[in-house]
Amino acid sequence: MTEEHKETIFSSIIRKEIPADIVYEDELVTAFRDINPRAPVHILIIPNKLIPTVNDVTEDDELTMGRLFSVAKLLAKKEGISENGYRLVVNCGSHARQEVYHLHMHLVGGNDIGPMIC
Ligand code: AMP
Repeated sequence: MTEEHKETIFSSIIRKEIPADIVYEDELVTAFRDINPRAPVHILIIPNKLIPTVNDVTEDDELTMGRLFSVAKLLAKKEGISENGYRLVVNCGSHARQEVYHLHMHLVGGNDIGPMIC
C-alpha cells in the first residue's frame, strides 16, 4: 500500500472494527450514517476497496462507481426522500475540503438543504 493509499477510519468501519450505523452492505460498497449529520438524512456510501479520491478511479472501478449510484437511489427510497429530492456529493481533494481520503458519496436530504452543505 502506497502512502497515497493509506487506510482511513472508513476501512475499519467496513471491517467492523469500529462501530458505525451501517445501513447497507454488499460485495462492492458499504453505507453508514454520517457521524456529523448536516441534514435529517445524511448517509455515506463508500467502495469497499480503498480508492482515496475520484482522481484514483480506474476503468476497473466502473461497476463499483455505478453501484454507489444504485445504492444511493435504493437508500433514498428506503429513507423516504426520493420524491422530494436529495443531493449526492463527492468531494475530491483539498480545494473541495475532502476530509477522509477514502472515496465516499454523501447522500443528504430530508428537508430543503439549501446550497453546499457537505
Ligand atoms: P468529506 O469532507 O467529504 O471527506 O466528508 C467526510 C465525512 O465523514 C464527514 O461528513 C464526517 O462527518 C464523516 N465521518 C468522519 N468520521 C466518521 C465516522 N467514524 N463515522 C461516520 N462518519 C464519519
